[in-house]
Amino acid sequence: MGKEKPKKERKYGKGTRACVRCGSYGPIIRRYDLYLCRHCFREVARNLGFKKYE
Ligand SMILES: [Zn+2]
Repeated sequence: MGKEKPKKERKYGKGTRACVRCGSYGPIIRRYDLYLCRHCFREVARNLGFKKYE
């Protein structure tokens, strides 16, 4: 914390993306062009064949 340079995107606020699967605002994982909360990412990742976040 503190070392990261501020980016244009805000982590919180109106610009925060919601989970595309359940629509909840929270910790969204933006990987593989997915915008999913941790819970949904786990399930989707399993469907995609990933074995991470377990
Ligand atoms: Zn979700």
